Amino acid sequence: MKRVYMDANATTPLLPEVVEAMRPYWIERFGNASSIHLDGQQAHSAVDHARATLAEFFNCHDAEVVFNSGGTEGDNTALFGLLRPGDHFVASSIEHSAILAAAERLAAFGVETTYVAPEPSGLIDPAAIQRALRPETRLISVMLANNETGVLQPVEEIGKIAHAASIFFHIDAVQGSGKVPLDVRRFGCHLLSISAHKMNGPKGVGAMFVRRGTPIESLLVGGSHERRRRAGTENVPGIVGIAKAAELAMQALEDGTIDRIAALRDRLEAGLLQTPGTGVNGAFVDGNPVPRVANTTNIRFDNLEGEALVIALDLKGVAVSGGSACHSGATEPSHVLMAMGLDKTRARASLRFSLLKTATDADVDQVLQVVPEAVEHLRAISPVAAGTAG
Ligand code: PLP
Repeated sequence: MKRVYMDANATTPLLPEVVEAMRPYWIERFGNASSIHLDGQQAHSAVDHARATLAEFFNCHDAEVVFNSGGTEGDNTALFGLLRPGDHFVASSIEHSAILAAAERLAAFGVETTYVAPEPSGLIDPAAIQRALRPETRLISVMLANNETGVLQPVEEIGKIAHAASIFFHIDAVQGSGKVPLDVRRFGCHLLSISAHKMNGPKGVGAMFVRRGTPIESLLVGGSHERRRRAGTENVPGIVGIAKAAELAMQALEDGTIDRIAALRDRLEAGLLQTPGTGVNGAFVDGNPVPRVANTTNIRFDNLEGEALVIALDLKGVAVSGGSACHSGATEPSHVLMAMGLDKTRARASLRFSLLKTATDADVDQVLQVVPEAVEHLRAISPVAAGTAG
């Protein structure tokens, strides 16, 4: 049985070109980018080269790129680096836990957060962000694309609101990078975070755009790496890896790959919706499609437990993820789907399908073959379907 991986929003494999680009920097070119000898200079020049690629990816200056350990660090840096006691912070309620948990931690230090809920479509209304602002608001953070629904948020409009009110604006672009073009000037943000492993690069590596003059304090202190914005010896192979991944992502945005994936996702979605008792979460508002990244669809299968379906599909060789997350040993329904107005049962009955850029028609065919069988079987035996689940 060939396995089909449809959980690209959780992570992606490295492309062979990325592995090849990184390889020398573990072995022959192992130098420390801060050393002044030739070995150090080779590493330094690789980091410089990578920084130029990321600057192109973000549409910013080289000096505005900071390498770090990934999306969690970028999100944490935006909040802990800028917010101080007495400040007010505005975030959407569908942010990743890297933002939400950081805001919770900051509450203990006198930073108050206003969480702006999405519309039922999954979209954040910029007017709701505007209404949440106070004189002491210092930072707004809204994600570019939601990890569960793929819905693209109106960051440009939010950037204009932030600019008019002289408030800093951070974008968690972890799920948007490589799927839509990034342009920090157009977005009007001061900070933007991405993670390599969501775009065919290595895990534990990320990059951040920090607009010149943004008074961000480094989360890590020590050496004066990254212009004092992130201490710690540079992960040279990782940095080379994220740059290669960004270069390939820029190509994929232009060579038709994204359109191909959108067509596959649309066929998958239409096929899945043939099963009775299903619906898409975050796809339409008043019958009009909501902007979404090309690779994601979030489907509700009424009258079953999503987790049971994830396991059943895994046994049939299909990897997807459910609309719930494990917190402290208990399975909680997705905060994103709940914020969109789904009840607990429907949130738990939802699955995310997220396609890799290498997805094929055969992958979609295989999923469309196994899902209806699995759904039918689970509904036949499910206590949820029988109305006996609590
Ligand atoms: N932000 C979003 C929207 C994400 O989806 C993720 C990962 O799932 C992160 C942040 C965290 O990124 P990382 O895994 O690089 O820490």
